Amino acid sequence: MIDSYKHRGLRRSLVNKLKGKGIDDAIVLEALGRVPRHFFFSPEFLGHAYQDKAFPIGEGQTISQPYTVAFQTMLLQIKKGDKVLEIGTGSGYQCCILMELGADVYTIEYNKSLFQKAKSFLIKMGYNAQFFMGDGSKGLKTFSPYDAILVTAGAPTVPKSLIEQLKPGGRLVIPVGNDKSQKMIRIEKTMDGKFTKEEFANFSFVPLVGEFGWKSSK
Ligand code: SAM
Repeated sequence: MIDSYKHRGLRRSLVNKLKGKGIDDAIVLEALGRVPRHFFFSPEFLGHAYQDKAFPIGEGQTISQPYTVAFQTMLLQIKKGDKVLEIGTGSGYQCCILMELGADVYTIEYNKSLFQKAKSFLIKMGYNAQFFMGDGSKGLKTFSPYDAILVTAGAPTVPKSLIEQLKPGGRLVIPVGNDKSQKMIRIEKTMDGKFTKEEFANFSFVPLVGEFGWKSSK
């Protein structure tokens, strides 16, 4: 795995493009600038790594579009040392971005083959997150509460269990909608245990499956 001068240049251009699209959090942009996205692509598709597009990673799943990764990460308002649950490890790219921000990441993936691949690849890269295989639509209660929870698949509704697993002051970022389009939602648990809800633009994610997601075909 080589991160050449050319790759770094392409990454800088991508980061500038994201800035132009309204991502104005310098810390998040720097994190995207540090993680070699081409490491997540097989050699024949390297040309796609620094385009602002989602891309298939097998098993009918995708590595999210860089703009989406940046937008969701920005909404999470991560501080160094935050305990973060990511639901939908996928390729592991988003997990690396969260770790670059200094988060202590718990990441859960439903698909066994993606789980195994991401876990071994990230550990090899030196990103020692806590990896789990299972149904993240229920959250990961054993290690809760979390400062932030990020859902990287489209949910039909906001699972109550996820809100319950937030610390006071914690943020949940989750795309909610139908199978074609989902609205990005941020829910914050206030210090007095109440909630605020904000809605942002529409995105298009692969479905969140499992108990509080869409019915799985498995
Ligand atoms: N964060 C990923 C990345 O950086 O590559 C992108 C994730 S992809 C858009 C969504 C992922 O969510 C898929 O890998 C899918 O298998 C996973 N997923 C769907 N439902 C899930 C569930 N209930 N629990 C855990 N993972 C789930």
